[in-house]
Amino acid sequence: MTPSTLRIGVVGAGIIGTSIALALRKRGADVTLVDRDEPGSGCSFGNSGAISPGSVAPLAMPGVLASVPSMLLDEASPLYLPVRYLPRALPWLMRFVASARPAVAEASAAKLAALHAGALDAHEAMSRELGVPELFLKRGHLHLYPDEAALSKDAGGWRMREAYGFQVERLDHAGIQALEPAVPARYQIGMYLADHATILNPFRYVKAMASAFTGAGGRFVRRKVSRLERQGNGWRMETPDEEADRLVFDHAVVAAGAWSRELLAPLGIPLALESQRGYHVQFLGGSGIVSRTVVLADRKAFVTPMEEGLRIGGTVEIGGLQAPPDERRAAILSRIARETFPGLEGISTRTWMGHRPCMPDSIPVVGAAAGHGGLWMATGHGHLGLTDSLNTARQIADALLGPPGPPHQGERT
Ligand SMILES: Cc1cc2nc3c(=O)[nH]c(=O)nc-3n(C[C@H](O)[C@H](O)[C@H](O)COP(=O)(O)OP(=O)(O)OC[C@H]3O[C@@H](n4cnc5c(N)ncnc54)[C@H](O)[C@@H]3O)c2cc1C
Repeated sequence: MTPSTLRIGVVGAGIIGTSIALALRKRGADVTLVDRDEPGSGCSFGNSGAISPGSVAPLAMPGVLASVPSMLLDEASPLYLPVRYLPRALPWLMRFVASARPAVAEASAAKLAALHAGALDAHEAMSRELGVPELFLKRGHLHLYPDEAALSKDAGGWRMREAYGFQVERLDHAGIQALEPAVPARYQIGMYLADHATILNPFRYVKAMASAFTGAGGRFVRRKVSRLERQGNGWRMETPDEEADRLVFDHAVVAAGAWSRELLAPLGIPLALESQRGYHVQFLGGSGIVSRTVVLADRKAFVTPMEEGLRIGGTVEIGGLQAPPDERRAAILSRIARETFPGLEGISTRTWMGHRPCMPDSIPVVGAAAGHGGLWMATGHGHLGLTDSLNTARQIADALLGPPGPPHQGERT
């Protein structure tokens, strides 16, 4: 079949599924993107916008285990596991522990470095192509530490960044203030990654991508997929209504974020996928307080000068897909932001929780589902789904349709 006659269905219109749908459509396939919500309403709505190719260290690093047990049950720590969810989380946590062995962590870093390669240029080009170049801010990322003891906890991650060739400039407090005058004296050490970038409105970015997809002839269908089912040599997406008849494809791509596990499990594909619930507090103003992504590394919080105002994002809560957001987690972020930047006092806020789709070794699952011809998976991007979205889309499009040919006359590259 030529790409133009190949029918492909993509479940999930987050940044991953939308990037894939657009990449496949641009190469000529007949693509339908299916989501129960509007594009970008899941985890991709409220992330911190960081394009972080230097984040090659997996979450399960050898040193992390010593601090995890006490952090997990401490409600105020950046990592929290409610006791009620412990039995459900245990199998995943055991795999996470196994992934923190030095050899596994090194192997994961190599895979992450390969997946991140070229991400910065790809997002810069994409933001231009989508007509939203103003969303791409290339001013680097500044990671902040109070002292050597705090920095030493992340030493493994910084060693890995340098090993993979990322330039890191170490700054003292004066150096920090030269870049970001509002950073208080609490932070004495800065680690500056000049070659990193930020998307200043991740939701608008996905929406622009979805518009480009439909503008190029792609079809968006707003339906919940309740089941994936073999139909002949292809796949049928079952939905609770009659539209399902139209949702029959030669290939199906599951890019349903943290919900991918429940779509794949009935097909006998067990994914070790767990939601790491993250929160943000969006201040409706105050974006001028910092001029680039600033990471309060000791608090594990990202501070970003978003279009709407300053956003602080972070925390990991392993609490499953069903429980409502725990507003105490957002309140912790809000307090940290106001303590660090008193200029935020009096500015109103909005809070949000999203489900990061996380694998124990931080390596996303991208590619064909073995033994299920025509079924593809693209999930598990964890803390880096925005960063890795375009490379994931390219991988899936290359594997499904073959590498792109030379551009036709007049075609944008
Ligand atoms: C606080 C926070 C900060 C973050 N910061 C960053 C960052 O700075 N940089 C970075 O690279 N990453 C960051 N991330 C991670 C990033 O946001 C995620 O990795 C990414 O959004 C995952 O995208 P996705 O498309 O896989 O999932 P989602 O965006 O969740 O999309 C999945 C979609 O599938 C749909 N869906 C699910 N099940 C079904 C079904 N049965 N039928 C129909 N539709 C279905 C959902 O409605 C949803 O729209 C952050 C995450 C959080 C929570």
